[in-house]
Amino acid sequence: MMTKNLLQPDKVIAPGSTIGILGGGQLGRMIALAGTNLGYRFVTLEPTEDSPCGQIADQITASYGDKSAARELASRSDVITYEFENVDSEVAALLEDLSYVPQGSRLLYTTQHRLREKRAIEAAGVPVAPYREVVSLQDLQAAVKELGLPAVLKTATGGYDGKGQWVIRSEAEITEAFDTLMKAGTELVLEKFIRFDKELSVIAARSPRGEIRTFPVAENIHVDNILHASIVPARVDERIQQEAEQLAARIAESLEAVGLLAVELFLTGDGELYVNELAPRPHNSGHYTMEACRTSQFEQHVRAVCNLPLGNTSLMTPVVMVNVLGEHMEEVEMRLMDGKWTDNKDQEQKGVNPVSVVPKVHLYGKSGVVAKRKMGHINLLCDNVEEAVSFIQQTKIWRNQQK
Ligand code: AMP
Repeated sequence: MMTKNLLQPDKVIAPGSTIGILGGGQLGRMIALAGTNLGYRFVTLEPTEDSPCGQIADQITASYGDKSAARELASRSDVITYEFENVDSEVAALLEDLSYVPQGSRLLYTTQHRLREKRAIEAAGVPVAPYREVVSLQDLQAAVKELGLPAVLKTATGGYDGKGQWVIRSEAEITEAFDTLMKAGTELVLEKFIRFDKELSVIAARSPRGEIRTFPVAENIHVDNILHASIVPARVDERIQQEAEQLAARIAESLEAVGLLAVELFLTGDGELYVNELAPRPHNSGHYTMEACRTSQFEQHVRAVCNLPLGNTSLMTPVVMVNVLGEHMEEVEMRLMDGKWTDNKDQEQKGVNPVSVVPKVHLYGKSGVVAKRKMGHINLLCDNVEEAVSFIQQTKIWRNQQK
């Protein structure tokens, strides 16, 4: 990995400059939409033609590991960011050499690997679920004895949305779990199973000049390991909200992160918070900020990477964000075309939307509608979150996902 630190705390990337984004998915698209409003230009490096980001920015179409494409991205960009964390370390190093990557490769190096990430969180003085490193079946057997069952076995790299994980519930599963996950060819980590009450997240932003801001805590509902909804304000004590924001800020400070750092947390019935994982980029659970906060996570990311003063993150309205997956697309689009995702009084009289719930629809322009694929999201601005939650139920679009 690269050890050289090219961060320039006084360097400001002014509007009019070009921001290069590694990755052209929906996160890149929403970074570019926010940054375009501030006067920046965008170019994305992405293998899929006509990508969500490429539809609204220039696109270099090539694989993420293509060195000559990376060189072209560097030559066309004043600053480079990324929208996913599994950036090839050689490409990250090349981009750091040829262009300006204020986020650096160190944060990627840490967050690409669960064990490194956990050690970094602990070094910041923040609790994680008790865990053990596993490289052999004997390690796993010993770890199960120490941590007890159930426990969660995870690959150290490459897992997302619950992939690369096995919840071991009985000793009979140990060998099969080990053999299955070892196929990924990486070390494993066994975590104590946390009987959490809620899953929360906090997005922190830090700029090269060292300014840090955190967004309000989101309460996240997952279905089949995929985020279904984020509820803000989270339905937890004020004290927990403050503590969660402080933990996130402490981690961002300790890691000297630049840009956004999303922190996923478990909250137990005893009021204990444990960090589950980090993501050094905009996060699905921060999409609610687009209309509900004074500054969105995407604008904040642009501000942080360009070293502008960070924006005010306060919440302007309660909000529930609900994800639109492939299986929801047809009904969401139909409703959009029928004019039902609106918030006016006429609609309420027709029994469509409660007037106090204002739906803001975001679709990502993806052509392939595939079940479980994230196609868009809807931010339901509301007077209170319970009303928006019951509105989601009433639409029946997410009928298999209500918890
Ligand atoms: P991850 O890929 O680490 O975010 O895990 C995906 C989901 O699995 C989380 O959102 C939790 O719902 C669940 N999970 C992960 N780790 C644990 C754990 N140590 N204890 C209980 N549930 C977990």
